Amino acid sequence: MKIEHFPSHIQAHLIPDAKGEMVYSCLACQSEFGISRLLYVCPECGSVLLLTDKRPERISAVDGKTWREIFDYRRMLNMPALKGIYRYHEFIGPVVPLDSVVYLGEGHTPMIEANRFLQEKAGVRFYYKNDGQNPSASFKDRGMASALSYIRYLIQTGMAKDVLAICASTGDTSAAAALYASYLQPDIKSAVILPSKKVTPQQLAQPLGSGARVFEIPGVFDDCMKVVEDLSTRYQVALLNSKNAWRILGQESYSYEIAQDFEYDLEGKVVVVPIGNAGNITAVMSGFIKFFEAGIIDALPTVIGVQSSHANPVYRYYLEPDASKRTFVPVAVKPSVAQAAMIGNPVSMPRVIDRVERYNALSGRKNVFVVEVTEQEIMDWELLANRNGHIACTQGGESLAGLVKAVNQGLVPKDATAIVDSTAHALKFAGFQDMYFENSFPAEFEVVPDASLVNHPVFVHPEDLDTVPTAEKPLSGEDLNRYVSRIATEIAGLLNLEKQ
Ligand SMILES: *Cc1c(COP(=O)(O)O)cnc(C)c1O
Ligand SMILES: [Zn+2]
Repeated sequence: MKIEHFPSHIQAHLIPDAKGEMVYSCLACQSEFGISRLLYVCPECGSVLLLTDKRPERISAVDGKTWREIFDYRRMLNMPALKGIYRYHEFIGPVVPLDSVVYLGEGHTPMIEANRFLQEKAGVRFYYKNDGQNPSASFKDRGMASALSYIRYLIQTGMAKDVLAICASTGDTSAAAALYASYLQPDIKSAVILPSKKVTPQQLAQPLGSGARVFEIPGVFDDCMKVVEDLSTRYQVALLNSKNAWRILGQESYSYEIAQDFEYDLEGKVVVVPIGNAGNITAVMSGFIKFFEAGIIDALPTVIGVQSSHANPVYRYYLEPDASKRTFVPVAVKPSVAQAAMIGNPVSMPRVIDRVERYNALSGRKNVFVVEVTEQEIMDWELLANRNGHIACTQGGESLAGLVKAVNQGLVPKDATAIVDSTAHALKFAGFQDMYFENSFPAEFEVVPDASLVNHPVFVHPEDLDTVPTAEKPLSGEDLNRYVSRIATEIAGLLNLEKQ
């Protein structure tokens, strides 16, 4: 729709300006720092940072109802810069001019309601929100669109040049970083550091295909993170891990979309996300808090974070009910099918602690919970979901298993509606499905296939059929007729088909 055709009271708000003001704020010492250079940790105390809006009056000058209309009307606008996460520009990056925005098709991922069978199994009404339908097939594209748009803005204004973007990854961060950086080459080049053999072949193929420099090193993700941190403190590189607070901003769009897709009515809603480095759950809480404070939503949904028992430091932290007695202890991870969340020392832990406190305070009750699931539960729920029309990855299986656990623990009312995050596409993690179907999981995963979920291809080649086609030698005439009829009869027998 053309701008002149929108209602006049909306026209002035449709195209956001870049006149906001943001600063990095330290959660530990409350210091604030300008954004003209890239910062990842507080120069004063070394703690992680979040970006905050220094001109909140720009938000409060518009009432909640008008904001809702602005976002709903922006849906009809045909401007690429506002088609992705920057539909919510004022809440995500009010300093980023629209001509710096990198839009590769991220965000606005579909919510798919589970069928009756699956809802009955889970014990509650729920939707999957498929973040695997982002351009690099995971939610990481949301944060990368934000971080790379900001870096592009720095380049366009001469505040940065010849950027080498670098990240450690459990697979999806590097896929997203390499994709977005490759769009901006030659101004931005990327290098990614992966734990050798701890990312799937599909995830390894992604940054290679995007032309990134790819380094595989011994160890797990937490070790890669240490190396990247060392590089980012001693050399000129742009760190693209979720330590980079711009990533968090972009990922807040997940919450904004849920709000918008439910007509801003989040009463009785439950949002379930897997936790790895804890950037995503930070963003999900932050996003809902911002919309709540702006009067755009008037209820905060319950947030449930899920961890595997093989990588559960956040779950362990919240096991202690008395906040003053909680201490964070990193864990040594064990192999997990939710490999993208297989992290023992999440860098966003201080942000989580900060946001959970605020979220519960605004909710007037405990409204954030962390549950733990087994590797077995993750695989079983992933496969069951996918047999019912979904495309959940293993982390999506983890989310669903976590929802079921939360229902069974009485954390979710029976009449609630849950939104379950499938953070990546099933195909990225197809190797774990193979292991399940072939019963070839190494013992440390502790996964035993449930026969009712196993599926195998059937090779059909009747013994008495000698002449079969090959690519070089197609069949014709009698040979072809016999081949078609014998194979068809065999398949009909296997499927118990009735004759016409
Ligand atoms: C990164 C990732 C996670 C974990 O998200 P965090 O922000 O690190 O907690 C979960 N699932 C997938 C598919 C991921 O790529
Ligand atoms: Zn500080």
